[in-house]
Amino acid sequence: MIIILKPDTDPAGPEVAQILEYLRQFPDVKTRLSGVRGASRVVSEIYLIGPTHSVPMETLERMAGVERVVRISSKYRQIGRHGGQLEEFGFDYNGIHFDQNCFHVFMGPCAVDTPENVEAMCRSMQRLGVTTARMGAYKPRTSPYDFQGHGKACLPWVFEIAGKYGIKVIAMEVLRAVHIEEIFEALEAAGRPTGVMLQVGTRNAQNFELLKAVGSQQEFPVLYKRGMGLTLEESLNACEYIASEGNRNIVFCLRGVKSHLGEPHRNLIDFGHVPVLKRLTRLPVCVDPTHSVGTKDRAPDGILDIFHATAEGVVAGANMVLVEFHPKPETALCDGPQALTLSEMEHYLEDVRIVREAYEQRKALAERRVFGEWSTKGAAA
Ligand code: PEP
Ligand code: MN
Repeated sequence: MIIILKPDTDPAGPEVAQILEYLRQFPDVKTRLSGVRGASRVVSEIYLIGPTHSVPMETLERMAGVERVVRISSKYRQIGRHGGQLEEFGFDYNGIHFDQNCFHVFMGPCAVDTPENVEAMCRSMQRLGVTTARMGAYKPRTSPYDFQGHGKACLPWVFEIAGKYGIKVIAMEVLRAVHIEEIFEALEAAGRPTGVMLQVGTRNAQNFELLKAVGSQQEFPVLYKRGMGLTLEESLNACEYIASEGNRNIVFCLRGVKSHLGEPHRNLIDFGHVPVLKRLTRLPVCVDPTHSVGTKDRAPDGILDIFHATAEGVVAGANMVLVEFHPKPETALCDGPQALTLSEMEHYLEDVRIVREAYEQRKALAERRVFGEWSTKGAAA
């Protein structure tokens, strides 16, 4: 059960104290108060955890400071929208806003390799006005003999170069709790020239201890990738671990699912779930076309499959794209064959801009047809 407070209610004020006092008669029900930054306002919510069936909604609804009370049916109680009863979560990080309306392209190499390559990447991004990057220092590889990433040793120069070129956020995968500390310490030591969004990769989608670790810190937002062999429901429940530990600055990323039915692509593209996630959850939604497609094949129309996959996600309203670029893909230590090149960057961003515009137009059309004047006039015609 969630109690949504009226927007002007002070979380430390008498109304909240009275509600918590009333709830003390249900000793098995635990409460957690948290603030939510929605699209247009900041509201506080009280989460009731435990056997809430005996808690009367009507009494709570009549109490001062209460706007609404929502009973929760699905297991992902904090990240869920529960049949549209709850607003989205929005958050700001290092000057970048994230919510279900935002749009950002995070680009960069799969793995950090040399300072020269990181610098070439960041320089091109700055030239094209992109301030959101991706690059891995810790890589979970299928084979133990493959490059595992430079680890914490590369963080000082990666952060310095990123800051020099105005990169505000880097999506960076973490594999263990200690990596969060290493990133924090390196950022502090460098004077916070940039920011980091902690990425939980598909291989760790049900690593509950890692999910608890990224969830129990408030410093960094989290990019959670759907498990490649998990149903959406299973991944949502796993993602809930992050929120249940207190961190709700989460973006949910679709990256394709493992199935031979996706061949010749590396994974079966699941971007049809973008609107499903926006409906089921309060989270911004990201798509990763690189790991879904996994090749640089081109269709007869001249457009790469990675561009087409990106478009599928963006035209459906994705809020973020995570895509791999590398200055010299032939020398990349990880995922070179699927990396776009710097000379393809401008084309990619222009293509994305066209598709995002198409989504905005589709949204405006739906607003008129479904919610606006046409819905009534159209029905009469
Ligand atoms: C990545 O983004 O580099 C990555 C390893 O992705 P995934 O976890 O989706 O395979
Ligand atoms: Mn990769």
